[in-house]
Amino acid sequence: MKIERENLSEYTTIKIGGVASLWKPDSIDEFKNGYEKIQREGMSFRVLGNGSNIIASGNGISDLVVFMGGVSNLIENLGGGYVKVGASVRLQKLIRYLAKSGLGGISDLFSVPATVGGAILMNAGCGSVRGFTDFVETVIVHDGVKLHELSRSDLEAAYRFTKLQHLGNCIVLGAVLRLRECEKATVDSEIRHRLSVVAKRPYQYPNCGSLFKYSNRWVMKLFDGYKSGGLYFKNGTLCNRGGAEFDDAIKFIERIKRIHKVFGLRCKEEVKIWR
Ligand SMILES: Cc1cc2nc3c(=O)[nH]c(=O)nc-3n(C[C@H](O)[C@H](O)[C@H](O)COP(=O)(O)OP(=O)(O)OC[C@H]3O[C@@H](n4cnc5c(N)ncnc54)[C@H](O)[C@@H]3O)c2cc1C
Repeated sequence: MKIERENLSEYTTIKIGGVASLWKPDSIDEFKNGYEKIQREGMSFRVLGNGSNIIASGNGISDLVVFMGGVSNLIENLGGGYVKVGASVRLQKLIRYLAKSGLGGISDLFSVPATVGGAILMNAGCGSVRGFTDFVETVIVHDGVKLHELSRSDLEAAYRFTKLQHLGNCIVLGAVLRLRECEKATVDSEIRHRLSVVAKRPYQYPNCGSLFKYSNRWVMKLFDGYKSGGLYFKNGTLCNRGGAEFDDAIKFIERIKRIHKVFGLRCKEEVKIWR
């Protein structure tokens, strides 16, 4: 098991994060052997997909970080609308592949820079896609002892949530999806539309997508355009304009949560905070 000390800012889309020990398995077999060892030895660990929903501490993370980017990049058309896909596959690549195979239904996820594993865990969604798990037939997870095949209902999916978020040891290795038939030209036009929608968001800066899962739009309006140090908050998105610090991001999040609390409003962050 090769473990390297690396800077998490290189692995998170918001480019915030200190040094951590990263293990980067590049096959399912390597993953299985190593993960079973991690569990046997009781090591603390965290799972990293494309890092598009994570803000990591600038002081680093003491847990081992299991980077899933190279574990399985398989995409296989099983016919009848069923597609088998590995956890490491990026959604953009999957959507392009589906289009060429005459399948679609998830084009609105083109703007989400997720791996399949991260998109399942978070039940990522946008536009016409309520949640990625709506398209999942089965998911293969490893719990550190053996593989399990879960059905969609086992995931108990809700808005940006699956039960897997509470089962820290279940790592997604892949899934079988069920898509609908769709002309390539339709998918291409849906992708263009999606990209035009997100063109209004501040994606020119490193960011982690929507900061909050639930929040009050009037409170959020108060902070729209907020700038401090390298931080910039626009359209619900926290960005790093250069040199943004973890502690400042946390203070900002806590401030917004406090205001919600004072007025008895619901507020929950979507982003995962790694300390
Ligand atoms: C520009 C931008 C736009 C975005 N737009 C949207 C949007 O429209 N809709 C939306 O829902 N989200 C959006 N997001 C947020 C983010 O892309 C999603 O939450 C995505 O699902 C995270 O996937 P990831 O692979 O990057 O996972 P990571 O950010 O690496 O991890 C997220 C969580 O999943 C866990 N995880 C990752 N891989 C696995 C695995 N294989 N097995 C088990 N656990 C795993 C991690 O431990 C972590 O808890 C956006 C983010 C950005 C930067």
